[in-house]
Amino acid sequence: MDVNQEIQNLKNKIRELNREYYELNESSAPDYEYDQLIRQLRKLENEHPELLTADSPTQLVGGTAESMFSPVRHEVPLESLNDVFSYDDLEMFISRTKTALGKAAFFTVEPKIDGLSVAIEYIGGRLHLGATRGDGLVGEDVTENLRTIDSLPKIIKNAPWRLIVRGEVYMSRETFIRLNEEREIKGEKLFANPRNAAAGSVRQLDSRIAKERRLDIIIFNLQYTDGEPFSSHAASLEALSEMGFPVVTHKLCESYEDCRRQIISIGENRESFPFDIDGAVIKLDSIADRTFLGSTSKAPRWAAAYKYPPEEKETVVEDILVNVGRTGVLTPKAVVAPVRLAGTRVTNASLHNQDIIDKLDVRIGDTVVIRKAGEIIPEIIGVNRSLRKTGAEPYKIPNRCPECGSAVLKDPDGPSLRCTGLECPAQLLRNIVHFASRDAMDIEGLGISVSEALIRQGLIKGPADLYYLDKDSVSALDRMGEKSAQNLITAIEKSKDNGLARLLCAFGIRQVGQKAAKTLSRHYPNLDALSEAKQEDLTAVPDIGPITADFIVSWLNSPQSKHQIKLLREAGVSFDSREEISDTRFNGKSFVLTGTLGGMTRGEASAMIEKFGGKVSSSVSKKTSYVIAGEAAGSKLTKAQELGLKVLSEEEFLALLS
Ligand SMILES: [Zn+2]
Repeated sequence: MDVNQEIQNLKNKIRELNREYYELNESSAPDYEYDQLIRQLRKLENEHPELLTADSPTQLVGGTAESMFSPVRHEVPLESLNDVFSYDDLEMFISRTKTALGKAAFFTVEPKIDGLSVAIEYIGGRLHLGATRGDGLVGEDVTENLRTIDSLPKIIKNAPWRLIVRGEVYMSRETFIRLNEEREIKGEKLFANPRNAAAGSVRQLDSRIAKERRLDIIIFNLQYTDGEPFSSHAASLEALSEMGFPVVTHKLCESYEDCRRQIISIGENRESFPFDIDGAVIKLDSIADRTFLGSTSKAPRWAAAYKYPPEEKETVVEDILVNVGRTGVLTPKAVVAPVRLAGTRVTNASLHNQDIIDKLDVRIGDTVVIRKAGEIIPEIIGVNRSLRKTGAEPYKIPNRCPECGSAVLKDPDGPSLRCTGLECPAQLLRNIVHFASRDAMDIEGLGISVSEALIRQGLIKGPADLYYLDKDSVSALDRMGEKSAQNLITAIEKSKDNGLARLLCAFGIRQVGQKAAKTLSRHYPNLDALSEAKQEDLTAVPDIGPITADFIVSWLNSPQSKHQIKLLREAGVSFDSREEISDTRFNGKSFVLTGTLGGMTRGEASAMIEKFGGKVSSSVSKKTSYVIAGEAAGSKLTKAQELGLKVLSEEEFLALLS
């Protein structure tokens, strides 16, 4: 590899890790590996300065991914708050504050938004700088990404010359659900919750991606102004609201009782906010009093964050239903007798998977305890066994897909059960998008929205139906003109000749991605040869393990797959390998194995025969080219001798292979 290529490879690797880190807020490589890559790249660039470019990751980073954004020192620190976990603690906080002040005081009570805290500075009424909280003293410059937030004013009229506000960037629950749905269709990793999604989006290197994520913001504090000072927090929020900022809802309360009532009300109405909350904030309203009390090294003395305890209630499981997701995962859900919990009427609870059901031993008719903490759907955390009705049976998720009746297989690396049906209506959109994707059949113009439209119009019920579309019905689709319809039909037609590797990848068989598909198509001349392979034949192919082999065999033998394959064949889609089959010395020859071989398993022997283009059959006939007879060969050998076929010993077979 030449130096230029080596540098390019390092850059690509580093950029990929950066992208993971900023987009998903996680990294597949440990920090030291990342540092190692950076160091290596730097060394090469030092040795070959002519190859150093301005966009090299070494020019953008100070060693770690952490500092891909310029640091911003916060003029006013972004402090964190002391938490209180009970109303007793809250009462103590309020009385302590009043004692320290030696007088009565007002507090504001606000919802605590579960997002990413930022400070935004305006100069001359224009958005100048936006930064993440970081450690409270130094954050990251994310100005360009914050500019993509529609609700954040970019220009303010009648503003003081300099103004710094603090707010919480969030992703609305609605946007979050849609974003995850899209990611699921594209086969991308899902975000765990709106907070992670918002944090990952604010720290995007490409602000176009941040824009697509449709973030929102709520301003909850005036950090600094060189204009007329405000006497109270509430007055400053009103003024910010008049300047056009979306400010947090806040209520002035005087007594502990008032505060408590307001906190309860926020908790009960939490579903009416578009964002998730992780508590309520109680702040002293008078700015002079705040200054007087000051802060400890950890947090201000004039504010506290009340954390809602997760709410729990007892109810009865009336039924257990199984939902099939877009990726085919079967998710059980308990239908429960309606109960009010954390401000909402709850009628069902998540049961996640069979392992959880077994662990809790939840049965239909059981009285259970459900809890709602941060998540959108509450979960069952326990069963009241003393109330179990006689005759209640342990619950098992059905082993057939409730949507399409296909066999269900367990994920090798987790507890999920998955429907394997290529024609499963629940998975259709994802299957079509995957079938057409770049690594698979690479059908240009067949993205999510066109696939959705085709499905909605009932034009496709499986991938093979794509090859039966006619131009007129496609051009009648929403926002589809004559020309794009023709282009799509042409692209679909062209994909017929892609060959076995792409087709296999497009089928979306578990564990068979681009790489495994290629490997398989180097060992089997066409789909029919692969379809005849048994589990043990497949495991003899390099990189194909027993679990993958099982997935392939069961997939190829499922009625839905067979139906789709038949339709693809009739449409003229090529099943032939485009990969070079390394050696075809056994082309057209058929082999029968009998008895026990000393040096290899039958599977290995079969794989060798198939690798060289031969066919392995289980019964002897006149068409059999060779019978390989091992130790204790039985009736097959006798029959071969009767028919006068060529019988090979293991040694003779090995000689043919060498
Ligand atoms: Zn299904």
